[in-house]
Amino acid sequence: MPELPEVETVRRGLSPAMEGVVIQRADVNRPDLRWPFPERMAERLTGQRVDRLRRRSKYILADLNSGETLLIHLGMSGRMTVSGDPLGQFAHKHPMPEKHDHVVFHMANGARITFNDPRRFGAMDLLSTATAEDHKLLSVLGPEPLGNDFHEQHLIEAFKGKNSPVKSALLDQGIVAGLGNIYVCEALYRGKVSPRRKAGQISASRVGALVPIIRHVLQDAIEAGGSSLRDFRQADGELGYFQHSFDVYGREGRPCRTGGCSGEIKRITQSGRSSFYCAQCQR
Ligand SMILES: [Zn+2]
Repeated sequence: MPELPEVETVRRGLSPAMEGVVIQRADVNRPDLRWPFPERMAERLTGQRVDRLRRRSKYILADLNSGETLLIHLGMSGRMTVSGDPLGQFAHKHPMPEKHDHVVFHMANGARITFNDPRRFGAMDLLSTATAEDHKLLSVLGPEPLGNDFHEQHLIEAFKGKNSPVKSALLDQGIVAGLGNIYVCEALYRGKVSPRRKAGQISASRVGALVPIIRHVLQDAIEAGGSSLRDFRQADGELGYFQHSFDVYGREGRPCRTGGCSGEIKRITQSGRSSFYCAQCQR
């Protein structure tokens, strides 16, 4: 399931193909994904220039010159593929159409962007750019973890009196947007905080220390995604999934990597999801 760094990598990969470029034609091959597509979606996209491609949490937002914004969510299994050879930039030939190619954008620069999603948990919607933040999916979101509104005081306030485990508190999209299971595990490991500890019982200084740690964890992953983009020409044009090694996630039974710690990584289930942590150095 793509997390924030993967979505940011997709956004960066799409940018040269889409930003400043007119959508010549959009093929919408079915009526819905997770939810029905907006009315006349293909028509509303056709002929529009993508003025800006931005990201909010795990949503990609394409601001169009019509005053509408196309919201794209990759869901569980959504993939974006760029093909075509405009200006020699996108070295991938257009692939044969595949079964789950639900939406295809034909760009005026010759690029073709294909959205493929076998499980159809993805979503697309068209909203007014001016009031985009009021959209039901966006209005519930807390600050961006890499933005200025996510700071120590914010997290300290948000955790005050909270009885839920810190793991759940950090997954709460209203506290901080876009954090998912993998990067919460990694951040708590770096912060030496047990995922089981109640959010409200962690000292303010340790909570505050999580803020720069969360930023670094995400930035490291975005950097790894950036290297995958540089290899993009050799790959198959598919964006967003890249090799990245984790310190704790998926390392059950392996030795803890913290210097001087002889612990072993454990896996527990919290709210139906796996938490990986070292019980010796994460307190
Ligand atoms: Zn350890």
